[in-house]
Amino acid sequence: MNISNNSHPSMLTVEQALLQIKTTVPIIEINEKVALRQSLGRILAEDITSTINVPPHRNSAMDGYAVKSQDLPTEGNQTLKIIGSSFAGQPFVGQVNSGECVRIMTGAVLPIDTDTVIMQEQVTRENDQITFKAGQQAKQHVRNIGEDLAVGQVVLKRDHLLLPPELGLLASLGVPEVLVRRKLRVAFFSTGDELRSIGDPLQEGEIYDSNRYTLYGMLARLDVNIIDMGVIRDDPAAIRQALLTAADCADVILTSGGVSVGEADYIKEILSDLGQVHFWKIAIKPGKPLAFGKINHTTFFGLPGNPVAVMVTFYQFVQPALHQMMGYKTIPNIWKVRSLTQIKKKTGRTEFLRGILSQQTDGEWSVQPTKQQGSHILRSMSEGNCFMILRTEQGNVAVGDWVEVQPFAGLM
Ligand code: AMP
Ligand code: MG
Repeated sequence: MNISNNSHPSMLTVEQALLQIKTTVPIIEINEKVALRQSLGRILAEDITSTINVPPHRNSAMDGYAVKSQDLPTEGNQTLKIIGSSFAGQPFVGQVNSGECVRIMTGAVLPIDTDTVIMQEQVTRENDQITFKAGQQAKQHVRNIGEDLAVGQVVLKRDHLLLPPELGLLASLGVPEVLVRRKLRVAFFSTGDELRSIGDPLQEGEIYDSNRYTLYGMLARLDVNIIDMGVIRDDPAAIRQALLTAADCADVILTSGGVSVGEADYIKEILSDLGQVHFWKIAIKPGKPLAFGKINHTTFFGLPGNPVAVMVTFYQFVQPALHQMMGYKTIPNIWKVRSLTQIKKKTGRTEFLRGILSQQTDGEWSVQPTKQQGSHILRSMSEGNCFMILRTEQGNVAVGDWVEVQPFAGLM
């Protein structure tokens, strides 16, 4: 595989980095039984075969009258006698003869000798008699046994993502628990001598560790088991110990900071020693330095320190990797809209600007970048509602040009 970018041989394009990640990360195939409600958002690890018919009985799709199709008139009117009623959960018991009908509600069992329902809006009722016109279809408004799910039918295949409709579907089969893939375990820590935790007073030169909270939020939305290891100082021995501890208990380790080439950036050398690591310079802004590799069986991502770079690299590289490991099959939600502003852009790298999508008076959606775009301006992620993706070959953008956007809704 050619993994270099033509203009900068040592740099990967975003697409090359993503491809390499996707061909490397494993799918975690360890399963567990969970109660139906707990299976929401999980990947099914078994085929589900229906043991009952849904619906389990022939029933009415309308409120009206159950009749025999032989009694439908070919022309003119027909009058039938109402001999009883069938409500949902309270079936009519008895025989229906020619010239007779049964009052019936939606979902109620169709009396055995009837096969057709006349909508109540289409009859005139007088005492215990209804009259309706010709033009009704035999067997209309009847839901048949097993029409939704039939006995013996494979209703859901393994690897299916369980969402609200699947929960309902499984409930309609009376399934109390299902086998699903176990949750991923993701450990993370921040590195940096300048970082303090919330609650500690800040000394000169110190900042609060925000990345751990952003990472917590992004991971919590993916419903993984989170192992928060706190702040680790820029001390090779401490970082080494933290990585070994994390590799022991997690499927994935994420770190932030310490992956550049500064003097206190130790992640690179420690990792090369502990495991297999690809140190990448990616032709991306923000988020150029990214470490990717593994320690024993644990996948490792060393994210940059700058808060926006953390979020960009998480959503572009880590989240797709975690999805793959969990067994999710995702479709990227990227579309094109017109730019409201001109944008300066160098070719040769992909830029992820934070954009604001808005609907114009003509109904079209357009986008403009947030005012400040520095990789330390976390506010831009909050003010924006999408990434604007300006690809490698893209140069300056003029007003009205088409640009790619990836909405935060659904991504975050
Ligand atoms: P580094 O990659 O360690 O050189 O960090 C790059 C920039 O990101 C520096 O300005 C750091 O202070 C900042 N930074 C690193 N880690 C964090 C963090 N956990 N929270 C907020 N800012 C951070
Ligand atoms: Mg640092």
